Amino acid sequence: MKIKINIPEAGNRQRVVIVGGGFAGLQLAKKLDDKQFQIVLIDKNNYHQFQPLMYQVATGGLEAGSISYPHRKILQKKKNLFFRMCLVEKVNPDQKIIETSIGTLSYDYLVVATGCDTNYFGNDALKEKVYPLKSVSESIMLRNRIFLTYEEALSISDEQELSDKLTFIVVGGGATGVELSGTLAEMKKTFVPKDYPDLDVDKIQVHLVDGSPRLLFGMSEKASANAAKELEKRGVIIHHEVFVTSYEDNVVKMSNGQELRSANVFWVAGVTPNSLPGMDEASYMRNRLIVNEYNQVKGYDDIFAIGDTALLTEDRYPKGHPQVAQVALQMATCLAKNLNAKSKGAGFAKFSYKDKGSLATIGKNAAVADLGKFHFKGWFAWWVWLFVHLMTIVGMRNRVSVFIDWVWNYMNYGVSLRLYIRPKMNHFYDEEGYKS
Ligand SMILES: Cc1cc2nc3c(=O)[nH]c(=O)nc-3n(C[C@H](O)[C@H](O)[C@H](O)COP(=O)(O)OP(=O)(O)OC[C@H]3O[C@@H](n4cnc5c(N)ncnc54)[C@H](O)[C@@H]3O)c2cc1C
Repeated sequence: MKIKINIPEAGNRQRVVIVGGGFAGLQLAKKLDDKQFQIVLIDKNNYHQFQPLMYQVATGGLEAGSISYPHRKILQKKKNLFFRMCLVEKVNPDQKIIETSIGTLSYDYLVVATGCDTNYFGNDALKEKVYPLKSVSESIMLRNRIFLTYEEALSISDEQELSDKLTFIVVGGGATGVELSGTLAEMKKTFVPKDYPDLDVDKIQVHLVDGSPRLLFGMSEKASANAAKELEKRGVIIHHEVFVTSYEDNVVKMSNGQELRSANVFWVAGVTPNSLPGMDEASYMRNRLIVNEYNQVKGYDDIFAIGDTALLTEDRYPKGHPQVAQVALQMATCLAKNLNAKSKGAGFAKFSYKDKGSLATIGKNAAVADLGKFHFKGWFAWWVWLFVHLMTIVGMRNRVSVFIDWVWNYMNYGVSLRLYIRPKMNHFYDEEGYKS
């Protein structure tokens, strides 16, 4: 039997345990009334990660620290809030406790906000060989891979080996795939020729492989067409409606029979929820937790799910909401209001998603935007994209540092974060070993 996590008794307050300090969990922790509740936020990392800009860390445009922020610092002002860094392993709804890597904890209300991880669609062999982008640590891994590629390419004389090395394949044509492939293509024309003057940049190829009939499938057809046009202008080779079926010995096999060769396959093709085990089987659908309009998990009054892991259907969203930050933030705000009001005897209000629009960037001065009936592209969309992302990053210092890096990069692509930093492996990693 595991020990209890050492947290003071909640006294006459009810304890709300939030698992996951991403967009949803953090918003809820901020908005819940700590005079009424004892709030316990749990995350396997001690920092919040701003996922929309991970591709910029991966491509050397931003520091990892600019898109990460310590949970403890964000929540310093809340008196009855406790943060614990650990991995939640299981829920025991009968006893109203969670089991974690550091012990057990009881709850009055449990909120699951565990988000998603990379989806390899059951292809375990692929998982071992492709590079994902779902955490800050993976962004750094990808950055290392990209800059190591250029360093190593300089010493390769075999034509086939060099071509494999300098061919980047991005799998997944959603916003991240578009942004990552656009930036990789842009690098070829911007700093790579300056940093590696003895490298034949014409040998660099960027492919984007997408299973959907069009890129950015969640956005308008206009946005998809504009994104494809901009990427092609930058030299990205797009493969529509094809799936990667295997990747062995640098050969990527695709569902249309075509084969590509590459030593660098970056996988941003989909996500799968990090749902916690322990609840009734009927509570899950496609690994997401089925919730009602109050975000209560099917079969439980005291367990809620918000953000990417929650599956809530509305007439407009019969298959559930898109797994995006806006939904996570709005669900958290609605749940906070409901829980705050409940202790005053008021009823729950229903969640209804208000789509404020979608944006994706392709590269400098190029983005696409769907804002209600308005669809626009080009530099104006790009500036809107910059502004929206700058305003949503957590922490004033991070906003300022991102702003400075962007301005610097805008002028001369001069931000010098093109670093290959390897952790020196030693026994401490095994002993501390938290997975991120
Ligand atoms: C590369 C990338 C780019 C994206 N770009 C955009 C974009 O441009 N616009 C947009 O709207 N959306 C974007 N998204 C999607 C958006 O980031 C998600 O919809 C959003 O993060 C969901 O919020 P969440 O709180 O549900 O989950 P997350 O933000 O993923 O947070 C989940 C948290 O739970 C923690 N956790 C998970 N399991 C456990 C466990 N067992 N124990 C303890 N802690 C746990 C994790 O450490 C994490 O902190 C992007 C996603 C990615 C990966």
